[in-house]
Amino acid sequence: MTAVPQERRVVTAIPGPKSQELQARRNATVAAGVGSVLPVFTTRAGGGIIEDVDGNRLIDFGSGIAVTSVGASAEAVVRRASAQLAEFTHSCFMVTPYEGYVEVCEALAELTPGDHAKKSALFNSGAEAVENAVKIARAYTKRQAVVVFDHGYHGRTNLTMALTSKNMPYKNGFGPFAPEVYRVPVAYGYRWPSGPENAGAEASAQAIDMINKQIGADNVAAIIIEPVLGEGGFIEPAKGFLPAVAQFAKDNGIVFVADEIQSGFCRTGQWFACENEGIVPDLITTAKGIAGGLPLSAVTGRAEIMDAAHSGGLGGTYGGNPVACAGALGSIETMKELDLNAKARRIEEIMKARLTAIQEKYDIVGDVRGRGAMIAVELVKPGGKDPNPEATAALAKACHSVGLLVLTCGTYGNVLRFLPPLVIGEDLLNEGLDLLEQAFAGV
Ligand SMILES: *Cc1c(COP(=O)(O)O)cnc(C)c1O
Repeated sequence: MTAVPQERRVVTAIPGPKSQELQARRNATVAAGVGSVLPVFTTRAGGGIIEDVDGNRLIDFGSGIAVTSVGASAEAVVRRASAQLAEFTHSCFMVTPYEGYVEVCEALAELTPGDHAKKSALFNSGAEAVENAVKIARAYTKRQAVVVFDHGYHGRTNLTMALTSKNMPYKNGFGPFAPEVYRVPVAYGYRWPSGPENAGAEASAQAIDMINKQIGADNVAAIIIEPVLGEGGFIEPAKGFLPAVAQFAKDNGIVFVADEIQSGFCRTGQWFACENEGIVPDLITTAKGIAGGLPLSAVTGRAEIMDAAHSGGLGGTYGGNPVACAGALGSIETMKELDLNAKARRIEEIMKARLTAIQEKYDIVGDVRGRGAMIAVELVKPGGKDPNPEATAALAKACHSVGLLVLTCGTYGNVLRFLPPLVIGEDLLNEGLDLLEQAFAGV
């Protein structure tokens, strides 16, 4: 293993000639529906740097969408996954089990909120975890309806498209969608008509009223929410919203599911974002940050709920693959050893200070928000709150051209989001923020 030098380097246009050549080959053979934020072809990555085929080194503010929180070549992940690769790549846990799977479930029981008896089931992708959470909740409650929220994102499979709020690009033309899915308001503080201080109480009252009047609480199997909404724009539901909805679920025998696929595993400065308001979900879905880049996901929750599905009812050929489990154990080891929760909080401190200063200078910055290393700026038209997706795209492009990888998100396409690896050096973090500031000056 060769460690990637932790410094930005731009030696060609971005994308450079070799990336452009590969992009032409890709366009001839990879389906057009699979997009890329920035078509520079990766050769190495680690820490806070992504190196491309032309020898450019980009500062990484994306972590492959909140996945490589421990870096893209973390020592413990590489060591444990390599050792597992040499022993066996697969046996199928449903055929002959192995210890790594059990160890990951033990770790999940220890790290997730609540001290009740917990069990887990492992899968490959986030969408698969969410689908299985719905299966489990329906088996447990013997009810069918599922409640989700405005701006929510839960995946690209048929059921999770139905659960996802935004049409383009996730759903357009791909219906019909799964039935018995109902969407209710979320406390989006920045855009709540009567202001962020009222959003928690008013939005939860509206959501609960809609559930009672339009669905009937007794028909609801699960309420699924991201404790910090990811693709929808890094929206932290205003204070009081999550506790009110969780309490309503509890009072009505509804399974409360926290989708922590993006917000979990130290990303927000806590193991799980729902800890911020003391929420103990019945089920929690995890993926992305869990395994240092290897494909793994999980549903973890109250033992009596998790055990409601009949034997053989949950699983999948590759679910909880042994190499991915080894990666997860390496990733969790790294998070504990380097105290990546503290690192995430430090990243928040640095980023929020710099971004607030930028907000004071540029009136297109409507809101600076997020927690830990899950931070965003929402961009608006000067003098109001109209979304400004054009400036967002222009800023992202300007950052890319100087070697800073940033991502966008938001229902209105007007949010720049920052998800650096939690192991990024502070010098790189500050350099990235310098580049962002220069991008603002230029746009
Ligand atoms: C990314 C994401 C998913 C889907 O995960 P995949 O691994 O892409 O299927 C689901 N929920 C949330 C909150 C996510 O951020």
